[in-house]
Amino acid sequence: MSNDAPAADDTASADDTASADDTASTDDTASTTDDEADLAEGKVYLVGSGPGDPDLLTVKAQNLIESADVVLHDKLPGPEILGRIPEEKREDVGKRAGGERTPQSETNARLVELAREGNTVVRLKGGDPFVFGRGGEEAEYLAAHDVPFEVVPGVTSAIGGPGVVGIPVTHRDHASSVSFVTGHEDPAKADSAVDWEALAATGGTIVVLMGVGKLPDYTTALREAGKPGDTPVALVERATWPDMQVATGTLETIVDVRDEQEISPPAITVIGEVAATRDAVVDVLENSGAVPADGSASPEADE
Ligand code: SAH
Repeated sequence: MSNDAPAADDTASADDTASADDTASTDDTASTTDDEADLAEGKVYLVGSGPGDPDLLTVKAQNLIESADVVLHDKLPGPEILGRIPEEKREDVGKRAGGERTPQSETNARLVELAREGNTVVRLKGGDPFVFGRGGEEAEYLAAHDVPFEVVPGVTSAIGGPGVVGIPVTHRDHASSVSFVTGHEDPAKADSAVDWEALAATGGTIVVLMGVGKLPDYTTALREAGKPGDTPVALVERATWPDMQVATGTLETIVDVRDEQEISPPAITVIGEVAATRDAVVDVLENSGAVPADGSASPEADE
């Protein structure tokens, strides 16, 4: 249950190291077409797939997937999107035989290699490529190797996941800020990158990615930091996948609810008053992820 997180590292967020040159010249016509263009004929697109429903791919993502020579992906885009990509151009960099993860360095090197062979490469990442998905690291690596690339944003599961089940991450009456954090690390760690105490104090919505396994740790940390035990919490597993599940409770109860409903990764945790606003809309909301009334299961994920 607690083996978390596909493509994500929590030390994450390689933030912009590239210093922008704001004094861009107005006359760009004579831009340098340097020799690097010869080195890298191909191109890499860092593409967000959205949370999993193929209809939530952007038009650009869809077109690029169709025209690409190779699509490098892990499991996070989900069975429906991956199932539509012809086998012969898919390359799974999520897991190697034997179960361990492909090291990021290998994925980086493969992107450069494929591009230098002249391929149009789609690096397909779940949600948005720059939200906890190592997209920033890949962009830096490509830039360092002079491989032309583009970033194609996607619908992040951090907002779209709660959204499809009726949870707005902000709400004028309940939350005027939202924090996106990783739950993958131990809140007791002295140098924890996530300051749960500070988050408890903000009063805004907290959206936790990679937070199924460590749910007991950070719900405890938040309560110890003074967040009331009856604060609403929702878990959205496999948002927009055919087997989506939603579980709701409070900071006090959600761990038991998780266990009873057997919620497993990938899932989003939403903590805050907004999680309870779902109650007022769920009966009318038509894509809420409720198991169909006739109990019929959706097509199984081919994992
Ligand atoms: N770049 C992704 C996040 C990658 S980190 C995005 O923008 O959505 C991996 C984590 O994303 C998972 O552990 C889970 O918390 C979350 N996640 C990704 N897809 C999800 C989905 N369809 N449903 C629920 N959570 C999802």
